[in-house]
Amino acid sequence: MKNENLKQLLQETLDKCSHYTREGTVASYIPELAKAAPNDFGICVISNDGAVECVGDCEKKFTMQSVIKPIILLLALEDRGAEAVNSLCGMEATGKPFDAFNYSDRALQSEHINPMINAGAIALCTLIKGDSYDEKFSRLLDLARRLANNPSLDVDESVYLSEKATGNKNRALAYMLKAYGMIGGDMEEVLDMYFKACSIQATAQDLASIAFVLANHGSDPRRAERMIREDHARQVNAVMAICGMYDGSGEFALRVGIPAKSGVGGGIMASVPGRMGIGTYSPSLDKKGNSLAGVYALELLSERLGLSVY
Ligand code: GLU
Repeated sequence: MKNENLKQLLQETLDKCSHYTREGTVASYIPELAKAAPNDFGICVISNDGAVECVGDCEKKFTMQSVIKPIILLLALEDRGAEAVNSLCGMEATGKPFDAFNYSDRALQSEHINPMINAGAIALCTLIKGDSYDEKFSRLLDLARRLANNPSLDVDESVYLSEKATGNKNRALAYMLKAYGMIGGDMEEVLDMYFKACSIQATAQDLASIAFVLANHGSDPRRAERMIREDHARQVNAVMAICGMYDGSGEFALRVGIPAKSGVGGGIMASVPGRMGIGTYSPSLDKKGNSLAGVYALELLSERLGLSVY
């Protein structure tokens, strides 16, 4: 598709879907997120034929929230390999909200969690290499910057402090993982890293750049170096496809049909293997925590460009 046609398609998509920004609600579990402007809406596509097209609020910064989870998974894979990752954290969809996990009265097991829910992401933070949690975090931030091709990505301090002050459910999850012997160490340090990770700010264009690397099996055709291992990129894409859209992942697979991860900050990062990376931003969320206009935009683009992998 010619670049001007792609730009026009994105503009049409933005126009057709913008009314959905008035139908959802912005996340309000912390006061900082409730301040987001509900009508913001941006879409960015970076495609293998060289196009970088952005429409709407693509420069607007928002916190990545759960969109950082695939990058936590990636770094854990790069640092420790698939065997260590898969034995700590499963990969099956839980069918439950992001802050829950399946567990029986008797035992919580690795297979009950996956890297796209909070419990799984918190567990995987412990696998990342570094002498301290500060160092682990700065390695994560560094990977996010390299994938996004944006050295200025950084933490939104007020969101981070707000997450830290109110994150008792995440605390409960972390201590539960520790109680069942799945992770060790100082839970407050692990959680501090997780809260900071969720609070990294990005734009729709940053998400498109990261997705572009995943779509290209770990390399960015515009840059000489391989960024991440091919089998690790494949694992991240597969896990996103199975459980990247919270407990709406099955419906998303049907409607859109591409690996994607959403966050309650309003971002969606979608990777179309071999074709393109897409980033969307619109902070009005549906009941499951997915950006309402973002999902509709991806559905329309999938239909128009034949993106579904199924
Ligand atoms: N910081 C959020 C939490 O852990 C992330 C939620 C999300 O985007 O799914 O509750």
